[in-house]
Amino acid sequence: MPLARVKSSETLPDLPPNGRRFAPWSNTDPHSMKITRNSVVSFHYTLTNAEGEVLDSSRGHEPFTYLQGSQMIVPGLEAELEGKAIGDKFVAVVDPANGYGDFDNSLLQRVPLDRFGGQQVEVGMQFQAGEHSVVTVAEVTDTDVLVNGNHPLAGVTLNFDVEVTGVREATAEEISHGHVHGPGGHHH
Ligand code: ZN
Repeated sequence: MPLARVKSSETLPDLPPNGRRFAPWSNTDPHSMKITRNSVVSFHYTLTNAEGEVLDSSRGHEPFTYLQGSQMIVPGLEAELEGKAIGDKFVAVVDPANGYGDFDNSLLQRVPLDRFGGQQVEVGMQFQAGEHSVVTVAEVTDTDVLVNGNHPLAGVTLNFDVEVTGVREATAEEISHGHVHGPGGHHH
């Protein structure tokens, strides 16, 4: 016996008007969840400078995971990730002001070589200077060492080639701690 045809107006009699019956579906589809404040986001990235030199990459490792809005990544990249979803691929070009800051010449300092206690000092070596700052050796002469207190990527325009691999809502505990728990995050 053929099925009785039901008029479409009778199949969904109690739903509110203006298309809201579709809302539950879009909200539960993980592939449509857009990155917003307090999303836990996983992504792969390759970071290059303006010359195309690869500075860093997550490829070959686990994707990087962070809490959107926690300022764990540079502000320019966090802003570009806002509104993206799983599977989105894009290139974010981040200027120094929204990356690791502009280069500050006042953080270049000449230090007498004998302050290094006779150890071999070479360009590119990093030394602790004070409790929280690290300096990088920029130049070595017979008598002194030019140290650079800027972040190694200060003044560099950053090109992030990004692929979003995971988006979920943070738990209340993650939001209160300000970081991600579980894979790619804290285990405590
Ligand atoms: Zn925690």
